[in-house]
Amino acid sequence: MPQITAVQGRLVYNSRGSPTIEVDVTTDRRHVGRVSAPSGASVGMHEAIGFPSGGPEASLRILDENKTRMVGIDPTDIGEMHHVLREIDQTPNYARIGGSLAFALSIAAAESASLSEDLPLFAFLRSRPPLSTHATQPKFPYPLGNVLGGGAHAGPGTPDIQEILVCPNGAKTISDAIQTNLEVHAELRRVLQRIDPGFTGGKGDEGGWAPKLDNEQSLEAAARACENLGFTLGREVSLGVDFASSTQWDAEKRRYVYDRAGFENDVNAQLEFVSDIITRYKLIYAEDAVHEEAFEEMSYIRECFPDVLVTGDDLTVTNAGILSRAIDAESCNAAILKVNQAGGLYDALEFADLAAANGIKLVTSHRSGESTDSHISHIGVATDSKMLKVGVVGGERVAKLNELLRLQSLDLICGMAAL
Ligand code: PEP
Ligand code: MG
Repeated sequence: MPQITAVQGRLVYNSRGSPTIEVDVTTDRRHVGRVSAPSGASVGMHEAIGFPSGGPEASLRILDENKTRMVGIDPTDIGEMHHVLREIDQTPNYARIGGSLAFALSIAAAESASLSEDLPLFAFLRSRPPLSTHATQPKFPYPLGNVLGGGAHAGPGTPDIQEILVCPNGAKTISDAIQTNLEVHAELRRVLQRIDPGFTGGKGDEGGWAPKLDNEQSLEAAARACENLGFTLGREVSLGVDFASSTQWDAEKRRYVYDRAGFENDVNAQLEFVSDIITRYKLIYAEDAVHEEAFEEMSYIRECFPDVLVTGDDLTVTNAGILSRAIDAESCNAAILKVNQAGGLYDALEFADLAAANGIKLVTSHRSGESTDSHISHIGVATDSKMLKVGVVGGERVAKLNELLRLQSLDLICGMAAL
């Protein structure tokens, strides 16, 4: 039986230059899993707490105080590390140790276990509960890439909408899919420069362009970029939007405030606003179209657009209890999976299992503040995610896409997911 022989933590930096925690887990003195934790800018109110009040230093101190409890554990039993983390933390949302520590430790343990079993991480995860019931052949998720961003990810003058995304839904291989997203991203720069010759090529946190344009002009530009390349929207290539509506929602006013564009939507106007964008731009994907507690309104959108991935992010926060509520209210047909929203890997895999059992399509996602790690590419494949939302350009984004290309060359995954 393999055993964890050492655990080592340290502070490193994420793509935003903010400090975060990195953990090495060593199994049998030779198999080292190494993971550093990402963090979000638009954070759902029910997410696991990123760090305790003392920040990354406090999480590191807690790790140092408790690491002897992890030595001797069999890392191939994902549930055992989960049990130890829960025992140390004793809160529902990792408020004591920090979800970032739970993220780094649990995925590093799984990586060291996969190395000890000589399996790629995705194959190891599919061989263990809770995912071992997934009997089908793994497929590649479609890369869903942010090509233009605003909101919490970019500065003043950019659109209120957080992300306009491209999905190469006609691609037959993962390499063609990645290439298509890169071409759309590059063509969009040319389109933006024609609209505004002063456009500097500035980007938001996730590598999408951040022009001084409003929502409508931005959507038009993204659509034009696809068409200039000869694609028909909704056929070979489709657009998606992360509305990140909780960032616009003013609970006191009970209105969505679009302060950059200069208008406000009451609840009905928001539903019309979103429906109009989905229809006119033939969206394949609509994330957080309403705020994080609007389960009923979300269900209205899901009902109106059965062929669109009506996706919860802040709404479902990779939390199985909250997903159950969304399932009961029929709020969404798809859900984002961000391991650090849940905290530990096991929590996130339980969420994935519940989603699969209820026909909810998964979209495994990066955070806006990322590491150069590529474990989430494996987690996306392992959980049968339909899409992998990891951006298009930027070292920390391309690292995840390149890992998919490495998996393609292993010949263990057959074809693209059925959307
Ligand atoms: C998102 O909202 O989907 C996202 C990736 O952004 P963040 O990491 O800032 O939550
Ligand atoms: Mg989101």
